[in-house]
Amino acid sequence: MTAGEFSKFAHELVEWMARYMENVESYPVKSSVSPGEIFNRLPDHPPSEPETFEAFFEDFNRIILPGITHWQSPNFYAYFPANTSPPSILAEMLTAALGVQCMIWETSPAATELEEKMMNWLRDMIGLPEYFEGVIQDTASTSTLAAIIAAREKITAFATNENGLYNLNKLRVYCSQQAHSSVDKAVKIAGIGIRNLVKIETRPDYSLDPEKLLIAIEEDKKNGFIPCCVVATLGTTGVTAIDPIREIGEICSRENIWLHVDAALAGTALILPEFRWMINGSEFINSFVFNPHKWMFTNFDCSAFFIKDANTLIRTFEILPEYLKTRTRGKVNDYRDWGVPLGRRFRALKLWCVIRLYGVKGLQNMIRNHISIARELANLISLEPDFELMAPVTLNTVCFRFKTPDADDDRLNILNEKLNHYINDSGKLYLTHTTVNGKYILRMVTAQTNVTMNHVKKSWEFIKSTARSMNY
Ligand SMILES: *Cc1c(COP(=O)(O)O)cnc(C)c1O
Repeated sequence: MTAGEFSKFAHELVEWMARYMENVESYPVKSSVSPGEIFNRLPDHPPSEPETFEAFFEDFNRIILPGITHWQSPNFYAYFPANTSPPSILAEMLTAALGVQCMIWETSPAATELEEKMMNWLRDMIGLPEYFEGVIQDTASTSTLAAIIAAREKITAFATNENGLYNLNKLRVYCSQQAHSSVDKAVKIAGIGIRNLVKIETRPDYSLDPEKLLIAIEEDKKNGFIPCCVVATLGTTGVTAIDPIREIGEICSRENIWLHVDAALAGTALILPEFRWMINGSEFINSFVFNPHKWMFTNFDCSAFFIKDANTLIRTFEILPEYLKTRTRGKVNDYRDWGVPLGRRFRALKLWCVIRLYGVKGLQNMIRNHISIARELANLISLEPDFELMAPVTLNTVCFRFKTPDADDDRLNILNEKLNHYINDSGKLYLTHTTVNGKYILRMVTAQTNVTMNHVKKSWEFIKSTARSMNY
């Protein structure tokens, strides 16, 4: 492809992107293709001769787009969001063009130093103590894995890296019953074993019960186990419960246990002074993760991982083969030693662009707006006698279910699952479910970049009328 052709196609794509972003609401939110449909429309063999960009792009529109679920639609209320924004997309274009691989300082000093600065900005924006140092990981799952492996090395005096996994079945990790499955995955990969992940009961608001945590730790110590790490969650994935950091932290500090905080979604709300209570007790935190790629308008992937004692992390992950030896080692951050992968994308650029173009105030306004939309929706739901709210609304997630007179939970579970499928198959909006205490509940997350109360009102009307027109 010549430079001239590149320029022509690039301009066409930018036009397409702008139109897409403008019209994303008009697509069915959730793709309705069946399994195998896209696969079967693609050729079984690669072309041996070069094809044109036009042919590629035509197939993108014809074959790929129908199989896309539109995460950037303001009617996307499913899971947690993976928001983009125009500033983030523009910076991603530059990142793609530079195509740098940022494994060490020397492979692009600006990438490393911008990352260091952005992590300081973010740390201060969310109110973590100044001694925290940060690094961008791909996902919260990777960040939590890095935290648990670092905790493992700390408690075993770095002997596990050296000798392997023998004797590891004595270590214990704790989290609430509502914690994310990435904790389960991490204890498996770290060699600690899923049997040694202790899931602590929650309080009525679904947050971890610190008294139950203390009992579990004491019981474990009596039985010869070694408590290694507690993972507390701010904003659990099911119902956005907030674990009490201070009470958990006091236990961890007394017992010499690593405290990792998973704030994948909720960390963004910490940029609001009125939500700083969530990290009351931050002096007890050893590591902390939140995903700007969820709620802070920054393209996936971008997970901000903060660590109190970076030396422990570096000692856990550092490697130094001959080909990576440099003259600057020790004087700069070589982020390959701060986690699992060697190769790293230049992710700091989009963060820089997002934070600068919105400003902290702009970001705060958008987040506050999402939170107030959730409250207003909760209020609308509470006015309807045939719907009920199923969890406290703290942030941007509203949990509810449809109910009919005299139906028991089993019946309501079937009914709400059916309702969920009807709604999503309509293409008008997309929401997902969870279960708590055996109850199937619908979750509506009002946190997509461009969602407004108008979208939510329309969606709510549709949910109500769909529910009431079902046969039951
Ligand atoms: C989304 C989420 C995760 C996983 O995030 P990834 O970045 O996709 O790994 C972990 N913990 C919580 C609480 C989450 O909501």
